[in-house]
Amino acid sequence: MNDTPARKPMRCAHDGAKLNHHATLIRDPLNREEADSVDPVADGVLIEVHACPKCGRGQPRPTGTIS
Ligand SMILES: [Zn+2]
Repeated sequence: MNDTPARKPMRCAHDGAKLNHHATLIRDPLNREEADSVDPVADGVLIEVHACPKCGRGQPRPTGTIS
């Protein structure tokens, strides 16, 4: 089974380098839209943190939103 949608790699807004998935964090939802995507096990919104290998900048992205 391999029906997981491929996720587009994120690009650094600064230099366009492909970001590495660095970590996944949990935080409280900031709005109603995020509240709907709260992970019931983690009791918070799961945020992927992507880091740029070139300049070291980090860029967060909520998981669960594939758009
Ligand atoms: Zn960068």
